[in-house]
Amino acid sequence: MTDPLFDCVSCGACCFSRNPRYLALLPWDASRDLPEAGLFSEGGQRFVKFECGHCVHLQLGDGKAVCGVYEDRPEACRAFRAGSFECIKARRANGIMGERVRDRDGEPA
Ligand code: SF4
Ligand code: SF4
Repeated sequence: MTDPLFDCVSCGACCFSRNPRYLALLPWDASRDLPEAGLFSEGGQRFVKFECGHCVHLQLGDGKAVCGVYEDRPEACRAFRAGSFECIKARRANGIMGERVRDRDGEPA
């Protein structure tokens, strides 16, 4: 059951980072169909690209923050549990950023 306090579709805080190497692919991701254009390699490691402070696959607008590759999202994203310590930490750190960009389509201020 999803806790309404942790509605991922209206949050997306864990998909934000200024660290370009925030999301590394793991061995389990080898069989996942992630677009090549959204990946890069460094030091023999593959990463998902982050641009403008968030994952390139995060689709923002209309008050929502939706993963554009949800069915094939990397293992690290699957392991990130709503309501966990890491989730609460991400919401504290990035929630305000999420609010600003998520709502930009309809937000006058
Ligand atoms: S920070 Fe938590 S509630 Fe927000 S999208 Fe990530 S897992 Fe979901
Ligand atoms: S792949 Fe999806 S769930 Fe993972 S960081 Fe990017 S937008 Fe978020």
